[in-house]
Amino acid sequence: MTKLDINIIQKLFQKRLPDSHKGSHGHALIIAGSKSKMGAAIICAKACLRTGAGLVTLNIPKKERLAVFTAIPEAMIEFREDKNNFGKYNAVSIGPGIGTDKSAENILKLLISNIKSPIVFDADALNISAKNYDLVYRLPENSIITPHIKEFDRLFGNHDSETERRQTATTKAKELQLIIVLKGYKTFITDGEKSFENSTGNSGLAKGGSGDALTGIITAFLAQGYEPLQAAILGVYLHGLAADITLETQSTESMLITDVIENLGKAFKKIQ
Ligand code: AMP
Ligand code: MG
Repeated sequence: MTKLDINIIQKLFQKRLPDSHKGSHGHALIIAGSKSKMGAAIICAKACLRTGAGLVTLNIPKKERLAVFTAIPEAMIEFREDKNNFGKYNAVSIGPGIGTDKSAENILKLLISNIKSPIVFDADALNISAKNYDLVYRLPENSIITPHIKEFDRLFGNHDSETERRQTATTKAKELQLIIVLKGYKTFITDGEKSFENSTGNSGLAKGGSGDALTGIITAFLAQGYEPLQAAILGVYLHGLAADITLETQSTESMLITDVIENLGKAFKKIQ
């Protein structure tokens, strides 16, 4: 297992070219949010925009569009009720705040039946899959799943220790041909062959919304053309680094994920 440090990240990270345009940086689709959980969608899209995606489209229920227009004018919107062409995006993520009702299950199944490139799979998408386990087997090869401990155990069964959980993560990543990001203190990332442990982040992230931001960040790297394992590594490290920078002005108690997203810029300056 490799412990992630700034040198590894600096080698992986590719600077934006001076003559690039928005088309060079990918179009991300984020399927997130539902009636009472639009915050998750907004946090995820904001983090994705702050990580450099050329264009970000949020897939949300039509009724909730005003919240998005007001909170993030940079994001585009498509409606969950409409017929969507998932194939036209450079990266797609699904899960934050979609809920676990029939409509969430339907969009999840529709996406999995219609996409061949790797996706980012988080939150309620994982919770739905815990009850419909065949969905995990149908994910495109090299998709990234980002469970926290409880989501992980719901999917793969209960574990007594983090060591056991990491062993299962490695076995399952290989068997299912996925990248597994097992989130928590010292997040573990594995593709079944190579494994990494994160060294950034702090308990200020132990709050609702932190994982939604991580999904947006990883989706942005995927949209910009990084390989899924690279996108996961860069995303996890940068998310934690931005949280560590936030400690310069906030405490672990007072930190909001919005502060962390606003500090992604400073985090980028450190990895360049
Ligand atoms: P979620 O539970 O989906 O909101 O995800 C929480 C995010 O915050 C993950 O990226 C975790 O790795 C991170 N996180 C939570 N608690 C800590 C902690 N004590 N130290 C470092 N990172 C944490
Ligand atoms: Mg989460």
